[in-house]
Amino acid sequence: MLKHKNLVFLGPPGAGKGTLSEVLLKDEKLVHISTGDILRAEIAQGTELGKSAKALMDQGKLVPDQIVADMVAARLAQPDCEAGFILDGFPRTVAQAELLKASSEKIGRPLHKVVLFDAPRDLLIQRLTARLTCRKCKASFNKLFAKPAKEGICDHCGGELFQRSDDSLETAQNRLKVYDEQTAPLIDYYRKNGLLAAIDSSLPKAEGYAALLAVLNA
Ligand code: AMP
Repeated sequence: MLKHKNLVFLGPPGAGKGTLSEVLLKDEKLVHISTGDILRAEIAQGTELGKSAKALMDQGKLVPDQIVADMVAARLAQPDCEAGFILDGFPRTVAQAELLKASSEKIGRPLHKVVLFDAPRDLLIQRLTARLTCRKCKASFNKLFAKPAKEGICDHCGGELFQRSDDSLETAQNRLKVYDEQTAPLIDYYRKNGLLAAIDSSLPKAEGYAALLAVLNA
């Protein structure tokens, strides 16, 4: 049982937020809420929201704050989130953090910890452009560091692996620029209110996970 269970995973794309979420979810009964996954599901279903989000996502730009904040508020209010949750890729702006503070406190599920994941830029670019994602269970693999046992097939569920359209070099670079401009200010925001803890996510998965558990139980 973790000491802190209402969590935000903060950090640039490619820092390993999704990868370490997957590992943590094997050990802990938390709800994983990835705004990127929710938006990709909207795109796959061809909804109006999906259509407008796709144009922004393909350029590496952010979807409007109120839209993502409303999606998260609705998800956080569901009964299963009482067990604890990981917000992965949300909030991404100070405005989203303010909306989250209001909605999470209103339902009595305030944040316990914000974990900052970071790694050198060249490693992030290498991870993003070599990343393979499972269409079915969303697990991620990597053509360089974490190859699947069978090419193109997910080790966990047998689903098809694909490269996300926003993991191209150009879009990945743009996403990192957007992170620096719009998301990095959250580091100070959460440091000031005492919720921030950081881990070095250039470490191999097992060591990164040990570092994560240490901050979640500190
Ligand atoms: P991710 O899967 O977290 O890398 O997100 C992929 C893309 O979805 C981002 O580059 C944004 O275009 C969009 N997105 C995901 N989460 C958010 C968010 N919290 N705010 C705005 N846009 C988001």
